[in-house]
Amino acid sequence: MGGPKPAKATVAYNEIKRRIVTGLYNPGHRLVVDAIADDLSVSAVPVRQAIKRLESEKLVSVEKFVGATVLGLAGNSFREEIEAVAYLESVVASLSVPELTESDLDRLHEIHQMMVDEKDRSVYAHLNSEFHGVMCSRCTNHKLLRMLQELWSGTQVLLESAFVQMPELGPETNHTHLEILDVLTENPSPERMREIVFQHRLATIDVFDRVVERQARLARA
Ligand SMILES: [Zn+2]
Repeated sequence: MGGPKPAKATVAYNEIKRRIVTGLYNPGHRLVVDAIADDLSVSAVPVRQAIKRLESEKLVSVEKFVGATVLGLAGNSFREEIEAVAYLESVVASLSVPELTESDLDRLHEIHQMMVDEKDRSVYAHLNSEFHGVMCSRCTNHKLLRMLQELWSGTQVLLESAFVQMPELGPETNHTHLEILDVLTENPSPERMREIVFQHRLATIDVFDRVVERQARLARA
């Protein structure tokens, strides 16, 4: 499956994107290919490929003789991406509701408890992805499920970084997950599930609006 090159480019892409989205690289930050390659222990080629992809997402601008500069999230399509997740995931989750097994529910309760106890924000973010994965896993339309999984993998860095950026998102998330668990155990309603999941995902857009605002302030300073 795939040569070593695309894999390394993906690693570089995810890492640089994570640094931009989490504000480690702020707008105006110059991306020095060789330094990043050194840092990630890869050659310059995958780093250049990653920068090209970030340029197409409007997270980075590339100019001749100047090189690559971070633009930040302001011009990025994060809003559309998260909206797409909200629309698709709410349908997939609702189609999954009648098919979830006892052991799926046990696993969801288990992940929820781990999230409540977790202090590390990036572990927390991974657990959140796992929670959503189990919740949607029994969707009867496999085409939709595959589309969602593809969408997830493209937005993983973005969605997970929300928790690192905004720790206050944790209690809100735990609360909503508990609501989801209640629906699934008490009265498994696909309709209710669709509403909750839609709102739960849309809430992330507010988080990124705040991040964009903060990045813009930093860029002006
Ligand atoms: Zn969640």
